[in-house]
Amino acid sequence: MAEVTKDAILAALGEVRIDGNGQDVVSLGMISGVVVRDGNVGFAIEVDAAEGATAEPLRKACEAAVAGVSDVLSVTAVLTAERQAQRSINAPDQRALSNAEPRHTASSQNTPPTSSQGIPGIDAILAVASGKGGVGKSTTAVNLAVAMAAGGARVGLLDCDVYGPSIPRLMRLSGKPETFGDSQLLPMENYGVKCMSMGFLVEEDTPMIWRGPMVMSALEQMMRDVRWGELDILVCDLPPGTGDAQLTMAQRVPLTGAVVVSTPQDIALLDVRRGIAMFEKVDVPVFGIIENMSYFACPHCNERSDIFSHGGAREIAAKLSVSFLGEIPLATEICETSDAGEPIVLARPQSPHAAAYRGIAQQVLQLCRTAQESAGRQAPNIVMM
Ligand code: ADP
Repeated sequence: MAEVTKDAILAALGEVRIDGNGQDVVSLGMISGVVVRDGNVGFAIEVDAAEGATAEPLRKACEAAVAGVSDVLSVTAVLTAERQAQRSINAPDQRALSNAEPRHTASSQNTPPTSSQGIPGIDAILAVASGKGGVGKSTTAVNLAVAMAAGGARVGLLDCDVYGPSIPRLMRLSGKPETFGDSQLLPMENYGVKCMSMGFLVEEDTPMIWRGPMVMSALEQMMRDVRWGELDILVCDLPPGTGDAQLTMAQRVPLTGAVVVSTPQDIALLDVRRGIAMFEKVDVPVFGIIENMSYFACPHCNERSDIFSHGGAREIAAKLSVSFLGEIPLATEICETSDAGEPIVLARPQSPHAAAYRGIAQQVLQLCRTAQESAGRQAPNIVMM
């Protein structure tokens, strides 16, 4: 079988013209991120946000054109309804040749960036955030999600970190998600939690170079084009930090509330304040702070040592008038179970650490419920067991 080339794909797309304009999508600079792998082709079509809702026929036409190229086995085109600038007749087409290649594999319906519309079937969306990386945010998100599911809630877990997805490893999931119908992906499931991550869609060692709008587009598709079904809560593991990408996410994902994870020594720094300020800026309620690696729990004698200046999170929470949701110790067992893909709430359910996660999970569910009620929505009655 002959190798499919990018040039052949661009040539086929060069035949797709915009109605009433006569210009083709390639010379209009609308095609980007062309990826060809073993006859499977993916690319993005950039449209103006205002055209997002009507661009689906164009997406289909592009897919059909590429499907006609010999030796092409599959085609996935996604719409990125993010372009700020009006397309001009002479728009350069370097975009199509750019080496910035996002690996989009989820197929798209028209998903204009309509901000805070809820997602049908999902009652609450929780962001788990942190001011910086390495504080145990993903470990916390996973243990909270698994604890909620073990307590009887219907839970989804969305890995919003497209640059460094860790949910597949922490949830011991591998393989590719199955598709449902023309345009939906089925979440992968383990420990009673439905999961979606960019890590399922790209090879682990694939370097990902994403431009900001692409990240948002991929994320919206992971939220809206995934067949989550009915969920009491979707836990979103946000990328670490409080940069523009996180701010946009906080703004565009219809969040019910957020929790901020921090270690005690970071507390003195501005990271947590920044995290909280970020959510406040976009009117997302901050449910509270979780102090991770709060103190050292000796695995041999269970003695507790306050190796950092313990209690900082509680103080800063009080200062910033947000709740303190609880503390999780620095414990070898948490690290070992997490890195082995077996969250401690399941691996050692009797441990005090698992109990700490369960306590926080319970509070967070209750806070979601209160937030929904105050927003005038019918909240589900979730009881943790
Ligand atoms: P982040 O998402 O903030 O980057 P991770 O959840 O990936 O952080 O955690 C970073 C590392 O710290 C991992 O190896 C994880 O197992 C470990 N870790 C997280 N929380 C704890 C804890 N409470 N005790 C011991 N190790 C932890």
